[in-house]
Amino acid sequence: MPSRYLIQDAMPRFGQEDCEQALFAAKWPHGFLCPRCGHSQYYEISSRQRPLLECRSCAHQTSLTAGTVLEGSRTPLTKWFQAMFLMQLGISARLLAELIGVTYKTAWLMNHKLRHAIGAWDLEQPLDGDLQLLGEYYGYEYHRYIGSLIAQGALKPQPIVVGASLNGAGDIVYLKMKAVEGPEVDDTTRPDADGEEAAERFTQTHVANGVADDRIERLERGHRGQTALHVAWREAVRWLTWTFGGIGPKHLQAYLNEFCFRYILCRNDMLAELIACCATTETITYRRLVGARSGIRPIPWAFRRSARSQRHAV
Ligand SMILES: [Zn+2]
Repeated sequence: MPSRYLIQDAMPRFGQEDCEQALFAAKWPHGFLCPRCGHSQYYEISSRQRPLLECRSCAHQTSLTAGTVLEGSRTPLTKWFQAMFLMQLGISARLLAELIGVTYKTAWLMNHKLRHAIGAWDLEQPLDGDLQLLGEYYGYEYHRYIGSLIAQGALKPQPIVVGASLNGAGDIVYLKMKAVEGPEVDDTTRPDADGEEAAERFTQTHVANGVADDRIERLERGHRGQTALHVAWREAVRWLTWTFGGIGPKHLQAYLNEFCFRYILCRNDMLAELIACCATTETITYRRLVGARSGIRPIPWAFRRSARSQRHAV
């Protein structure tokens, strides 16, 4: 990771108008389309901080950010573009906050909204062609509570299936890393990462219909594995550990999606693709991001219970 001063120097100076044009082009690649009536002509009303577009046919007013992950955000468009640019480097919310001058909470939320757009994009891209699957485990390395529960043997690590589409030369053209059964942490009966059940669940959700079984190669799990999938998995764990100090179960999938997005697009125009994802994905609220989801208990429940009982014992 380059130093923050190098990053600051390399960061493009996004102008307000450039950002508006880029978002417009990503949202309406074939020209403006009224979301209510489908008309293609509009008036621009520029009296507000962010321009409003009024349909010339039905007078419906819409904004550039309506229906995008940026909707409802009070953070300037230029900072959003800086955050998208910086996602190419995979930085933490703490560093993002410092680099673009927002609070930690805002930076955290921006990164997660971008990951939300990436997740929606990924769902529409099932693996196809020649595939490889690799079952691995994420042990919540350096996660204060869950890491200790796993160390005590009170919890199984999270099984992850790493899957890739390969081209004729054997290079990865698309990559997915999926937690096998959602992020429940109190489930001690989850399937083995390299077992049939995990592979089947992954295939059902993330592989295109009609891919024959003989086109799916199953790789053996192991720390010394040298295939591109093994290497990619180790890179992902290293990134989660070094950049964030480990990631808990609730958001693990979002970070894995981000890693794969960067892996797939690092040689192409990741920024353009990210702008396109953001322009075509509806936003997610903070409440929905942090709120309890079905099947998840507050994470350190077992840890807290044992801590309390120990206190009583003393
Ligand atoms: Zn209209």
